[in-house]
Amino acid sequence: MATYELPDLPYDYDALEPSIDARIMELHHDKHHQGYVDGANAALDKLETMRENDEWGDVKGVERNLAFNLSGHVNHSVFWENMSPDGGGEPGGELADALDEHFGGFDQFKSHFSEAAKGVEGSGWGLLLYDHAAGKPIVSMAENHQNQSPQGATPLLVLDVWEHAYYLQYENNRGEYVDNFWDVVNWDDVAERYDRASTWTLSGTE
Ligand code: MN
Repeated sequence: MATYELPDLPYDYDALEPSIDARIMELHHDKHHQGYVDGANAALDKLETMRENDEWGDVKGVERNLAFNLSGHVNHSVFWENMSPDGGGEPGGELADALDEHFGGFDQFKSHFSEAAKGVEGSGWGLLLYDHAAGKPIVSMAENHQNQSPQGATPLLVLDVWEHAYYLQYENNRGEYVDNFWDVVNWDDVAERYDRASTWTLSGTE
């Protein structure tokens, strides 16, 4: 029994058009995300074998594979849920209040997140995280799936800016892809993630 499994997309491949083409969604979910799931499971299996044999020669490479592939699985699982054909608009609830308090308003948050996503060097992600150390949301830029992004934070809203996420439709225009992403953001999902994440900090339960 595999530890990690590919979740179903919560909508059809073409549901996010015109923001994201059906073919991108099909390849992205069925091939790329599946690859991260398989890679994470393979890394766990290798670590189990290493413990059984007490042979640790490749521990650095396998732990590295686990971090990369598990982070890929987590980011994509959140990404699919963060989008909806009924998305767009602005958030409500506690999330809206938090964005006002910590970013100076929704528009300033949106600019910050967009610039972060557009500015990732090479393959990576723009992320809105709940920072459990400070107890507040922060924006982060991850290279690959996990590098340059802080520990102790829960993803609330993530945007994949690897070329596989947009190149078939947008070619080199990452900026246009990022701008069109806002039309499909499922703010109800993001707000629910905020409500769950904000119940605890590193020092305990709120
Ligand atoms: Mn991806």
